Amino acid sequence: MQGSETIASMSAAWIEPEIAAPALTGQGDAARAARIERETHKLEKRLCRQVGQAITDYDMIGEGDKVMVCLSGGKDSYTLLDILLKMQQRAPVRFEIVAVNLDQKQPGFPADVLPAYLSKLGIPFHIENQDTYSIVKDKIPEGKTMCSLCSRLRRGILYRVADELGATRIALGHHRDDILQTLFLNMFFGGKLKAMPPKLVSDDGRHIVIRPLAYVAEKDIVRWATHRDFPIIPCTLCGSQENLQRKQVSAMLQEWEKKHPGRLENMFSALQNVVPSHLADGTHYDFKGLQATGMPSEDGDKAFDTESFDTPATSLPGLQIVRL
Ligand code: SF4
Repeated sequence: MQGSETIASMSAAWIEPEIAAPALTGQGDAARAARIERETHKLEKRLCRQVGQAITDYDMIGEGDKVMVCLSGGKDSYTLLDILLKMQQRAPVRFEIVAVNLDQKQPGFPADVLPAYLSKLGIPFHIENQDTYSIVKDKIPEGKTMCSLCSRLRRGILYRVADELGATRIALGHHRDDILQTLFLNMFFGGKLKAMPPKLVSDDGRHIVIRPLAYVAEKDIVRWATHRDFPIIPCTLCGSQENLQRKQVSAMLQEWEKKHPGRLENMFSALQNVVPSHLADGTHYDFKGLQATGMPSEDGDKAFDTESFDTPATSLPGLQIVRL
């Protein structure tokens, strides 16, 4: 497996997109158009910066890698492919991209949409035709959710396709909000402090899976997909119910973000700042073997004090703190 040769000193080149901001052109409609264009450039810049940062932080792609981008026809995977193609132009390392779609033969799946889109882009792609829909329909009783078997079958097929194509990386379109939803789903229903990693070894032990959109907010993907007018394929074709628990957690997170802007970003930062000595898992910190050091430390734990946090200016408008 290749991919570990990303050079840290070159990382800025992953992150710095070379996009010039357009100038304002006039008043009225022209000014409005210029503002929209400026916002779009800012969005593109942000997406490229965040993807470049994630690639650098987790050494996701290295010299000579062949990245298999899994394309479902949804906004996330279109955005992933789109941004990776931009990154490919300016990356400090050379890597290949091959887009792969698994046509699972759901009734009504518009099989010509992705080949037409990818042919127009002029990039290497592969459409894998496998009727997993019939298998899942056959095995899962009516009314039960089909997603778990469906995704297991899909995973196995995509691993095989990655082997056949000689892909050294499998890129998935999960974004920051997917990762946070998974964190809460695991806490609420699984009793685990566990999210969705930006980079991992696949369960068959043979592939490196990456999530270059790990730092990207879903709302930015929605805006980008609208701007780029991707030919979105609806994800309801199979007739399976969308995961209700994930939907509820997503609504909860969006509600928090609305009331306390920046909270999702802060929660994602928390995933990158884990303090095992202040959790309760003895397998990650040797609580039993703790010994007093006899040395005072300013950074040490002030166990008797409750922790206090700065109140974000946005959450309590008009509040004035007066020191007496
Ligand atoms: S929503 Fe449909 S296609 Fe998607 S995983 Fe579930 S069963 Fe499969």
